[in-house]
Amino acid sequence: MTPDQIFLWSHDTQIVKIVLPKLAGEIKMASTKRSFQAEVSKLLNIVAHSLYSEREVFLRELISNAADACDKLRYLALTDDTLVSGDTNFSIKISVDQKNKTLTISDNGIGMNENELDENLGTIARSGTGAFVESLSGDESKDVGLIGQFGVGFYSAFMVAEKVDVITRKAGEQDAWRWSSDGLGEYTVEKASKEDRGSSITLYLKKDAKEFLEDLRLRTIVKAYSDHISIPIVLVKDKEEESLNEASAIWTRQKKDITQDQYTEFYRHVSSGYDEPWMTSHWRAEGRFDYSALLFVPSKRPFDLFHPDRKHRVKLYVKKVFITDDCEGLVPEYLRFVKGIIDCEDLPLNVSRELLQKNQMLTSISTAVTKRVLNELKKKAEKKPEEYAEFWENFGAVLKEGLYGIPNEHKNSLLELVRFKSSTRDGLVSLKDYLAGMKDGQENIYYITGESQEAIKNSPHLEGFAAKGIEVLLLSDPIDDFWISSMFEGYEDKKFSSVTKGSAELENIEDAKDKGAKDKKGEKKSKKTDVSLLIASIKLTLGEAVKDVKESIRLTDSACCLVADEGDMDMNLERILRQHQQVADAAPRVLEINPTHPLIKGLVKKVKDGETDPILEDAALLLFDQAKIMDGEPVKDVKAFAQRMSKVMELSLQA
Ligand code: ADP
Ligand code: MG
Repeated sequence: MTPDQIFLWSHDTQIVKIVLPKLAGEIKMASTKRSFQAEVSKLLNIVAHSLYSEREVFLRELISNAADACDKLRYLALTDDTLVSGDTNFSIKISVDQKNKTLTISDNGIGMNENELDENLGTIARSGTGAFVESLSGDESKDVGLIGQFGVGFYSAFMVAEKVDVITRKAGEQDAWRWSSDGLGEYTVEKASKEDRGSSITLYLKKDAKEFLEDLRLRTIVKAYSDHISIPIVLVKDKEEESLNEASAIWTRQKKDITQDQYTEFYRHVSSGYDEPWMTSHWRAEGRFDYSALLFVPSKRPFDLFHPDRKHRVKLYVKKVFITDDCEGLVPEYLRFVKGIIDCEDLPLNVSRELLQKNQMLTSISTAVTKRVLNELKKKAEKKPEEYAEFWENFGAVLKEGLYGIPNEHKNSLLELVRFKSSTRDGLVSLKDYLAGMKDGQENIYYITGESQEAIKNSPHLEGFAAKGIEVLLLSDPIDDFWISSMFEGYEDKKFSSVTKGSAELENIEDAKDKGAKDKKGEKKSKKTDVSLLIASIKLTLGEAVKDVKESIRLTDSACCLVADEGDMDMNLERILRQHQQVADAAPRVLEINPTHPLIKGLVKKVKDGETDPILEDAALLLFDQAKIMDGEPVKDVKAFAQRMSKVMELSLQA
């Protein structure tokens, strides 16, 4: 029974067949109207109304989806060839209807069933995308770049179409479905008829998008964006078929026969991005295992790089057949910004995805690939430091993850790739640079960690080091505290040492300015005051709140600072752990006071005079709070702090 016919019983028990167009309409209504997920509506609104530049990319996106659909089916057919019975020649067809002003892209790939239509073309599934779309402003100039980052995918069809129909039938299933939408918040899904498997996407072109009906335009776009697609793309015109692309897997071709434009185009295909690749590496390995790799490092940071579900984006092929884009362990997590493909010659085609992940051969290939990528990064770092700085800005924080956690054989290569901001020079420095600039008598590689470069650059902990011209590495990525505190073996026999911790060996290192001028040093010493009585008095006031109070050798300008005792946890690491509820309370710190500071000298006088001046108690508490503030820590009793502060200011006004 077709939907536009209905059977009724009449009075005289005769079956009467009545065709009721109106009712047929109602049956059509049974197609359910559904709303797009809120994020999709928002995205569609921007895509349809504010993206005008480079609209032709919609074709790239639809062709790319069609190619993916063919790849997926080809993989499934490896274990179930009934899925492709009768039609094993995959292809993507483009056809134009001049009369109705429509453009149709069809494939004989995997197709979709009703549920999949809902999931794939009504929501955005990719992790992190929802939140990302929420952050779009609707201001074209800002959003275009952002949207470009994750690829507009299927929804980009609405840049050029006022209505889109998808008729699709899943391989191995009988029912076909029609998805239809004008992109304005709702879509419909209803049963349809389609003779063979696959999807057919019809775009009802907008008035200002009729250019996409012209053969020449279509040919040019396919050449520019989709030439590398390994499935034939065919332009169908009056029953004649014209092949538009080369349809050979780009990575199987010789390097010398591939232009950078072709590489870029392929990069954009595998990354669904619109940027240029920052690094392209293409090689073929022969030996124990044969494989080809074509890998890219993006020039832009993907928005979901730090999303917990973010996985690497390297596709695994076996003998040119796409197997999976989700092969855990194919490249390590800390290289999750790398995009591209790895094609193995020696794996059996019908190996299940689950078994793949434990495959010994893949582990070896992964190690070889990692080595190669790190090595190419090293070359870039040496030959083109400015370009490397851009890479480091984007992906340095991810690469550093490789230095933390499971020990791996690439640690040394990674250490050579790490770059730092530094307290004594502009730009980025490597550990090699650091060692070369070390002072006589300096044993350690000094660093400081904190929430931001601004916060740590002004930290009082750096003062003594600055005075002696000792370089301190400034680390402000959250991962820094973790990897650097796990680097017990150090780098080239030098240990990493935090300037906020323990007794820095500052005294053993000669002053930068006073090299050799011992007498000057002596002079400085004489400026110091004996602070032991003051220390005793401060200890009495602060009690348990501090672990100890000590005379500082690291301060030159500030009156005081807090340091972690040798053997205690680094303060910033503890702060991060506290934020994540991994440790409960801050461990008491050591308060260091600067014996050359006028305030401390003044206070020393007060103690010496034997007065039990109440100012001493206030001063101790104020010094402590001040040190906390300088470390970006909250003051425990804000009200008491303010009152004490006012009191001291009042006193100074009276004086
Ligand atoms: P992406 O391709 O990045 O996943 P898209 O918005 O382009 O995002 O497509 C969304 C999903 O819709 C695809 O992942 C796929 O599951 C499905 N899809 C789109 N086009 C087709 C097609 N021609 N055949 C089968 N499935 C498709
Ligand atoms: Mg897509």
